[in-house]
Amino acid sequence: MADQNISMLNQLNVYKTDSVVRVRIIRLWRQADNENPSETYSIDMILMDEQENKIHASVLKKFCPKVEGLFVEKECMLIKNPTLGKIYSKFMSVDNPHKLNFAYATKVNKCEDFGGHLYGFKFTSFDLLLQNLVPQNQSIDVIGFVATYYKMEDVTKKDGTQSKRMCLQVQDLEQRKITLTLWGTYAQQMSDYLSTNEDDGHVVIILQFGFFTYYNGRASISNSYNVTRLLINEEIDEILSFKKMLDLLACTPGASSSNGISRPSMLLSFHDDFLISTEFKHIAEVDGIREAMSFIIFGTIKFIPRDVKWYYHACKSCNKKVTPVMISKQALDGSCDDEEQGYECNNSGCQGKVVEAVLRYKILVKVQDSTGVLDLVLWDREAKKLLMKSANVLLEEILSGDIDMDLFPEDFKKLVDKSFAFKVQITDYNLNHDYKFYTISKLTQDPTILCELQKKLNFDQNTNSDSMHGISQSFPSDDTINFKDTDVVSMSGDNTTPLSRLESSTGNNILEKSKTTAINLKRNLVEVYDDDEAQGYSTNKSRTTSKTIGKENEKHNLIIPKIEK
Ligand SMILES: [Zn+2]
Repeated sequence: MADQNISMLNQLNVYKTDSVVRVRIIRLWRQADNENPSETYSIDMILMDEQENKIHASVLKKFCPKVEGLFVEKECMLIKNPTLGKIYSKFMSVDNPHKLNFAYATKVNKCEDFGGHLYGFKFTSFDLLLQNLVPQNQSIDVIGFVATYYKMEDVTKKDGTQSKRMCLQVQDLEQRKITLTLWGTYAQQMSDYLSTNEDDGHVVIILQFGFFTYYNGRASISNSYNVTRLLINEEIDEILSFKKMLDLLACTPGASSSNGISRPSMLLSFHDDFLISTEFKHIAEVDGIREAMSFIIFGTIKFIPRDVKWYYHACKSCNKKVTPVMISKQALDGSCDDEEQGYECNNSGCQGKVVEAVLRYKILVKVQDSTGVLDLVLWDREAKKLLMKSANVLLEEILSGDIDMDLFPEDFKKLVDKSFAFKVQITDYNLNHDYKFYTISKLTQDPTILCELQKKLNFDQNTNSDSMHGISQSFPSDDTINFKDTDVVSMSGDNTTPLSRLESSTGNNILEKSKTTAINLKRNLVEVYDDDEAQGYSTNKSRTTSKTIGKENEKHNLIIPKIEK
């Protein structure tokens, strides 16, 4: 600049008290008084000069009335005789060890706009964050698009105050993903945006002055209290050109499907998934399922069969099961003198090529609840989490240990007699091939979820007759019985209350009252059906049996209020 008297922000030092700086306010916020949050302690700013050097600036409350009106975000100012303070906070909003303070001798004037950038972003690549190559006490700027998100939730902070939280996955142009946690007003801003702009395609965001943490091998970012700026799909150059790049990538032949994601998809929290959105079932009900679906069961792993292989080889590129083949190895002279084990992938993408294979878990577990036992398959992702090691590591341990010749890991014992809430998936494959080993798509031991499910079970059991257990054991595998058909029977009589309404009212005394009603109703029904029951079990004709069991089941539907979702 022609004006020799103006200093750049990185030239300021504590010895010189008559500096003049020309800056733009790129961020402005009010710092509340810790002891009295409704009072202002100071007005704080991030200032940037024309070379994009930045500094944190602060005006104590007593000086505020004099100068407050001069501070407008994005506008430029001339500041004469500022003083420099030391920054004590562990978290550095900007890369500058000093804080610019306003004292009695400090003079502030608005000035002409000097051009240049309005925000001065300095983006950090996801790569550096994921590899933990960035200091955790300095703010970062990131740009990316929202790939997935969870619904905003209410949380109680450590100090007992209430706040909002929202978790998202943000993705960059190279398909790298990082977790972003937004708190308070930032969570609200994001939630509001997503709920009011439903057909917007990509949601590109910039988080400026964000907070980076790396913990347990996981990188994540979040907002800081005040200084963070969150820009969502705004019409600024950085966001517009990022969107253009996304569109280009989506058009590139061979572009992976995840580049084609446009609209961010909402994920259900475990709480919503296990307690609200997915139907709860007893194991005894599972045999009657005739359509592909997911449901929740609450049970205990009782047994892991030793004679079933607990791992398989998967294709490294497509994750599908591979077939072992013998490949002839060529000796140096070109003759085939040896064979070695290889793997062939027959998945459409890999087209029968010999591929690299990795070992993955596929553990058959027998799960029991109060109504029966179910065969479930614990796949790699969930098994790895529970056992805290990969299938490969576990197999190597066993092979080197040389103890268990049938390759059955001791580690599995710690799963037995453990209770979980399982989200189980029944696929068309299960149904069409009568394949009764169902996939566990998720499982949890979250105490809140287990406790809620336990309540559900207790409620059912209290309104249930002991004969239920006898019947569940003698369910015939007769295809003519379709329990679905009887599902339409629900409690709609005058003297009963549907459970769904009970749940929403959550009045305990109403619940108690309804239990009594249901039990009374049950007594009446048991008397009515006593004859049929005796008849049903005394005959061997399957038709009569199925008819009777059908009625029996109808009775259950009357006794057990159907839980509506
Ligand atoms: Zn493959």
